[in-house]
Amino acid sequence: MRYCSTRGGTRGWDFRQVLFSGYAPDGGMFMPESLPGLSADTLRSWASLSYPELVLEVCALFIPDDLIPRRDLADLLPQALSEFSVPGAVRLAQLRDGLCVLELFHGQTMAFKDLAMTCVTRLLDYFLRREHRRATILVGTSGDTGGSAICSARGLDGVDVLVVFPLGRITTVQERHMTTSLEDNVHVFAADGSSDDIDVPLRRLFADQDLVKNHGLMSLNSVNWARILVQLAHFLYAYLHLSDLQKVKGQELPTVEVVVPTGGAGNIAAGCIVNLMGVPLRLVAMVNNNDIVHRVVQSGDYSMASSVKQTLAPAIDIQDPYNMERVLWLLSDKNSALVKGLMEEFQSSHRLQLPEKLHKKLSAFISSGSVTDEMIIGTMQRCWQENHYVLCPHSAVAAWYHYHAPLLGPAVSRCCIATASPAKFQEAVQKAGLTLDLPKELWALEEMETRYEKLEKGTDWEARLKERIRAIRCAREKGQVFYSAKK
Ligand SMILES: *Cc1c(COP(=O)(O)O)cnc(C)c1O
Repeated sequence: MRYCSTRGGTRGWDFRQVLFSGYAPDGGMFMPESLPGLSADTLRSWASLSYPELVLEVCALFIPDDLIPRRDLADLLPQALSEFSVPGAVRLAQLRDGLCVLELFHGQTMAFKDLAMTCVTRLLDYFLRREHRRATILVGTSGDTGGSAICSARGLDGVDVLVVFPLGRITTVQERHMTTSLEDNVHVFAADGSSDDIDVPLRRLFADQDLVKNHGLMSLNSVNWARILVQLAHFLYAYLHLSDLQKVKGQELPTVEVVVPTGGAGNIAAGCIVNLMGVPLRLVAMVNNNDIVHRVVQSGDYSMASSVKQTLAPAIDIQDPYNMERVLWLLSDKNSALVKGLMEEFQSSHRLQLPEKLHKKLSAFISSGSVTDEMIIGTMQRCWQENHYVLCPHSAVAAWYHYHAPLLGPAVSRCCIATASPAKFQEAVQKAGLTLDLPKELWALEEMETRYEKLEKGTDWEARLKERIRAIRCAREKGQVFYSAKK
């Protein structure tokens, strides 16, 4: 199993190299050079597997035995997923009117990112220990990624984590998931600016080859292939639990529709890959008022809006759904030259009209929809009235589609992905006039001690972060840790 860049400049890398990189050196994204197929028999044999068992099966398909033997994967992956608050890490809720919700939010920070992040940090740790190396994870976050990275990596021997979040622009719970981590390998910075302001110094730091090499600097956002890989299991799980494969004989497989609240399009990319591996999924990409993914599916218009609109579903308030590059590459039959041209145009002008042929393929492959805050509130209310079940605002973006779009056919099941717990987005819950029993872990967060440092407006954030990355390394080389060394 070898990996290449969607822009054609890199080929033949192995999983380990890809895991430790973010973007490919040519600015593209890593993808497997070819996708293994899943036969009807294989799928049938997986039909009763739990989510952790499915993660093991998909990872074993993409990580060769000589890099990580299967018995080691079979050790570390289930262990990574063992601390979730429901058995098997995920849960399907069957509600009235045929609404089926796949709850992916039972990890420590109550969002789906915990599932892949815990697995990926264990994979990193595995290699780092074996090679007696360290890595520095640098994450800019607009909400859920930072907390998830911190909770997954805290206390691990081989990594230090630096997270930068936009002060005052994320929910209190999201902030607390980051600032209450007092472990020595966790460094949290609150920047006086927006996520876009944070992106600028981070991109520069990642472009600094010396820093990247000498400090093992790496990213853990969904540019990283390993996160997408683990997320393939979301779609396999949904498919296997809704398609009733045991009852269907022969090679003809039933179709399942999966509705996904979409931001950076990591989940959508994972769904596309599973589809191209031979699993008949019909994907629906749902967005809020930040609707670039909806526009590109409907009319091929891949142009950034002039600014991010703040909505009740902030984790998908995103202007650049960067994982669409993976989807476009797959749907153009891996035409790297075409993808390179399109993406470079998009990055320089923030505008792009997809070629007609590619747009046709995309719109035949994915459906889409866009909902307003009022529609989110209405969906949360209806779901509560019918089921006494509170959806988070992102999950409501998907559930809206269920309430308004007819099923594809009598034999087609549908599953809506729930990406976060409503407890994390209490503002939206209150706006919908609903109340929620908060889990006790959330109350505990309020009482805990916090630690973070501020990045003031008008100061040089890049220099400050670079200095910290070096100071951490310096302390480690003396056998100390940064925060203790300061005390
Ligand atoms: C990150 C996130 C999303 C978006 O996921 P993508 O894979 O980037 O599209 C949706 N909902 C929640 C709650 C998230 O944290």
